[in-house]
Amino acid sequence: MMQGQTTCALRLLLVALFCYLAAPSLEAQWTKAVGFDDSDMALDLAEALSFQKYPTYDQYLEMMQGFAMDHPEICRLDTIGSTVQGRQLLALKISDHVEDEEDEAAFLYTSSMHGNEIVGYVLLLRLADTLLNGYGSDSELTTLVDNLQIWINPLANPDGSFSNDNDLSLEHARRTNTEGTDLNRDFPNPGAGEADDTTGRALENRYMMEFLKEQRFTLSANIHSGTEVVNYPWDHTFDLHADDDWYRFISHEYADEAMAVDPDYMFGWPDGGITNGAEWYIALGTRQDYVNYYLGGREVTLELSNEYLLPAMDLEHYWNVNQRSLINYMSQCLYGIRGKVSDLDTGDPLRAGIFVEMHDSAYSVIHSSETHGAFYRLIKEGVYKLVVSAPGYLNDTIPDVAIIDYQATTLDIKLERKPVAVELPEAPAFRIYPNPAVNSFVVEPARLPYGQLELSVHSLDGRMIFQNTVSYRGSGMEFSTQQMESGIYLLRCSCGKHTEVHRLMVIKH
Ligand SMILES: [Zn+2]
Repeated sequence: MMQGQTTCALRLLLVALFCYLAAPSLEAQWTKAVGFDDSDMALDLAEALSFQKYPTYDQYLEMMQGFAMDHPEICRLDTIGSTVQGRQLLALKISDHVEDEEDEAAFLYTSSMHGNEIVGYVLLLRLADTLLNGYGSDSELTTLVDNLQIWINPLANPDGSFSNDNDLSLEHARRTNTEGTDLNRDFPNPGAGEADDTTGRALENRYMMEFLKEQRFTLSANIHSGTEVVNYPWDHTFDLHADDDWYRFISHEYADEAMAVDPDYMFGWPDGGITNGAEWYIALGTRQDYVNYYLGGREVTLELSNEYLLPAMDLEHYWNVNQRSLINYMSQCLYGIRGKVSDLDTGDPLRAGIFVEMHDSAYSVIHSSETHGAFYRLIKEGVYKLVVSAPGYLNDTIPDVAIIDYQATTLDIKLERKPVAVELPEAPAFRIYPNPAVNSFVVEPARLPYGQLELSVHSLDGRMIFQNTVSYRGSGMEFSTQQMESGIYLLRCSCGKHTEVHRLMVIKH
C-alpha cells in the first residue's frame, strides 16, 4: 500500500516534470535511444511478422507487398509518393471490393511522421495483419472491412526512421526528414491564414497533402511517441473546435479502453488520458490542424509511448493495450449522421454542403461526395437541424435530426433544382397604334418615358418615305400617313442608343 502510494507520487512528479519539459523536449533532436540496438530489429521476414521486433526497411516493403498479395480481394498496396532519399511512402487499402471507390466512409491511420517515434510503425502493421486475417471470421473486423475504406500508412517519414541511410536499423532514427524539416510543423497553418498550398513544403508532406485531398477521409489518426495521450484539435489555438464535445468523447473512448487494460498507461493527464492540443502546448503547422481546418476532416494525434525508440520487448504490451482502442476508434466512422444527397428529378448524386445549424463553423462543414452523393457527419449525440445546399438547387432544411452515440441516422436527401429564370424578350420601348392605321398613327413611349425620338418610315422595298425627330416627355406622338399608300411599312424608332423596328399596316380608303 505504502509502496504503491510512493510509486504513484513519484509517477505524478515525473509526469509533472515531463509536462513542464514537454514542449522543448519534443523539439529536441533524438540521437540514440538508451537500450535500443540491432537486437530490436527483426532478423528475417518471419520474425518481422511476429510483430515482436521492428522490421528493417526491406522487410517492411515485403510485408506490405505480402499483405496485398495474400489478400487480393480486400487489400491493395498503394504508393503515396517517395521521399527525398527515394524511399517509398506506402499505404494499404483494406476494404471489400478494394479496387472500387465505393460509397463508404474512408478512414486513415498513419504513423511515424516523426521518424524516431516508432511504436505505431509496428502497431499499424499488426493492425493490418489483424484486419486481413480476421476478415470473414471475426464479425466486428468483417463489418469494418465491409463498410469502410480503411487506409494504413505505417511509416510516413522513412528517411527519418532509417536515417544515416541505414535501412537495417532504426537505432539512429531521427524526428525530421532528411532535410531537417519537422513534418508535423510543415503543414499550412490556419492561424496564419496560410493557403492550402504545397509550395515550399517538405516532399513527404506534399505527397501526403495530395493523398489526403484525393481520399477525403471521414476520420483519421496520426500516431506519435514521446508521451502517452490522445491529443485532439486544435494545436494552433485555444479556440474550441465546433465538435469539441465529440472530440472529447472519442478521445476518452480511446484512452479509457487503453487504461482499462493498463491503468498506468496514459497516466497523469488531468483529463484522464486526453488533452486539447493547445492546452498541452501550442504547435503550428501540424497535420491534425491541417486536416481539420482545410479538409473538413476529423483527425486526432495519438501519442502512444513515452519512449521514442520503444524497445522491441515492449511491443507486445503496447499492442495489448492499444488494439481494442484502435478498432473502437475506426468504428466511430460507422456512426453519426450519414446518407446520400441526390437530384430530386434525375436521382443523380450531388456534391452538397451539409451545414449543422447553430453548431458548425466554416471548417467543420462536411460535403457529400461528387461520385456517390454520400456523406458522413460524425457528431455527438443530440438533435440537430441540417441545411443542405448545392449550387443551382434550393436549400433543404431538415429539422430534428436525432442522433445517438454508437448509432447511425441515415438520411436520403433530395434537392430540387432552382426554377430557371425565364429570359423574357425585352419589352419594346415604343408602342405603335392603331395598327392598321388609316389617317395617322401614334408612337407611344412605353419604356423610355422621355427623350428624343428619331422616326424614319420605310417601304418594304427599302425606300425611305419620311423621317422626323421629336422631343417627347411621357405622352405619345402622332404622325400623319399622308405620304403613305395602302401597304406595309417598316418604322425605325430610335432613342439614344436604342433602336427598334416595327411593322405598320396602312389602309387607305
Ligand atoms: Zn511526434
